[in-house]
Amino acid sequence: MRWTQRAIRKLVERLEAEYGRDDVREHLDPLGELISCILSQNTTDATSFPTYFALRKKYKTWDAIARLPEDALADEIRAAGLANQKAKAILAALAAVRARFGRYTLEPLRKMSQEDAREWLESLPGVGPKTAAIVLCFGLGFPAIPVDTHVFRVSWRLGLIEKKVGPARAHRVLEAIVPQDLAYRFHVALIKHGRRTCTARKPKCVACVVRDRCRWYHEEGLQ
Ligand code: SF4
Repeated sequence: MRWTQRAIRKLVERLEAEYGRDDVREHLDPLGELISCILSQNTTDATSFPTYFALRKKYKTWDAIARLPEDALADEIRAAGLANQKAKAILAALAAVRARFGRYTLEPLRKMSQEDAREWLESLPGVGPKTAAIVLCFGLGFPAIPVDTHVFRVSWRLGLIEKKVGPARAHRVLEAIVPQDLAYRFHVALIKHGRRTCTARKPKCVACVVRDRCRWYHEEGLQ
């Protein structure tokens, strides 16, 4: 089964008919997105978001955060886990932003191509393909596709990508085949499907609304 852009559009629509459509992005400013994303690594949003908002409430400007000694920042973000590592990455990211743009903002990335902006974000310490894609998509409105564990698993099971591509390269592979206007909806629909039906262990294939298009389902002879 070939995944044309039309077929991917249909896939998203079918998943949205099942789980609801989500066009609205509640996002932070791009730099806030980057810092909250670093904070969220290896933990849940439920843990990292309160830490992020408490930090922003206490220190009103990025400059105030950037001036904190590393151990003081680590104390402020302790609840998000890996505090020393994340404090180091946050201070390094803020320093790199200031060095590049002269102030604490990522707004100039909007004028770059998606690939140039991605390359620069990924050059920051502590920023990998997933964090960069989240900042590009949620913070800057580029048609990037963040690939988390659900998006990756559902994508390879459906046959949209090969599993051996790996999560890091999956961002670019998916962005090349998913219609640009669908990037955000695709990301959200696959996460919902991965959480509720196409779970890591024992996917609920019998109840799956897209099983007729699923390579894994057919190859495993589950039909
Ligand atoms: S048929 Fe099963 S493996 Fe395929 S997408 Fe649906 S739940 Fe996932």
